[in-house]
Amino acid sequence: MRVAIVGGGQLGRMLVQAGERLGVACVTLDPAADSPASQVGPAIIGAYDDPVALARLVDGADVVTYEFENVPVDAMRALGRPVLPPPVALETAQDRIAEKTLFTDVGLPVPTFAAVDDPPSLAAGVEAVGLPAVLKTRRFGYDGKGQAVLRNPELAEDAWRAVGEVPSILEAFVPFDRELSIVAIRGADGELRCYPLVENHHREGILRVSYAPAPALTDEVQRTAEAHARAIGERLGYVGVFAIELFRSGGTLLGNEMAPRVHNSGHWTIEGAETSQFENHLRAICGLPLGDVGVHGNVAMVNVIGQEPDAAAILAIPGAHLHSYGKQPRPGRKLGHVTLLADDPDALRERVLQVSRHLTDA
Ligand code: AMP
Repeated sequence: MRVAIVGGGQLGRMLVQAGERLGVACVTLDPAADSPASQVGPAIIGAYDDPVALARLVDGADVVTYEFENVPVDAMRALGRPVLPPPVALETAQDRIAEKTLFTDVGLPVPTFAAVDDPPSLAAGVEAVGLPAVLKTRRFGYDGKGQAVLRNPELAEDAWRAVGEVPSILEAFVPFDRELSIVAIRGADGELRCYPLVENHHREGILRVSYAPAPALTDEVQRTAEAHARAIGERLGYVGVFAIELFRSGGTLLGNEMAPRVHNSGHWTIEGAETSQFENHLRAICGLPLGDVGVHGNVAMVNVIGQEPDAAAILAIPGAHLHSYGKQPRPGRKLGHVTLLADDPDALRERVLQVSRHLTDA
């Protein structure tokens, strides 16, 4: 099988690496000459909407996939090749209002929200949603970018300017107990498998640490999240891996957003699960049987952000596996991650602290 991947970041790189073991040949497309994926496999340099580059990318490919959600949907539809996950999933995930409408339609509750197109609709949104609230751009937001928390109605204009005066969504601020995510895989035949829910810790809008399975996870919460994932997967005719980010608030799961791709909160699966999310994504889109989602004990993932750590210090920690994406350091940039395995949750937390002490911008 040959797979064309739009995007050559770390997700593309880890897909290429999983493909190598499976005998699935992957090629990536990225505008950067030194993208993380280009360092581990064949890569085409070009813009995501460049017809010539796209034609070269998909030449000889059995299936096309993507590793980030801001891929131009029209370009994907015009390829004349099977694109999985289906472009409708991309289209839905690119627009926070379409995404939250889908969640509501399938019975996944969401924070109260209103569409905002200008200062008057923001004022109306503040009335409808109440404060505090979060103003987010409808499109092209990532890692907390394009967001402003609004606590005082008099600062509404400042929030509008902060997000760039573009179509946005105003959401009620959720005083969540914790943030969770579920990574699901749906096969071409509709079979769905889910890894256990993961607990995620963010700072400045960027994921820092994930714990898998989420501490004190109950069967009931897992079943509820899986039922939501199943309904979303069916509605979109989904094939491949996707993640749903959730808030747990007062005993309820609320939908925040979905990623129609492999996800940062699933990186722990490389060492921590029987089959990684990357292998499972390739299995699904290539029409191969899905892999076992069983977990190897207590697992955590710590993101390396901004600066590379002392590799020797990290690797001296028992149960630590270091992944470096081959990226130039820059503040706020994800450069790698560390997966940690431990026999019990206390030992795992201690190891997470040990790793964090070696991370400068963590
Ligand atoms: P997002 O880009 O929507 O995933 O938001 C990034 C982070 O901001 C989330 O992981 C939360 O920590 C926080 N956040 C986003 N939306 C809300 C909300 N409605 N209420 C409280 N915190 C939020």
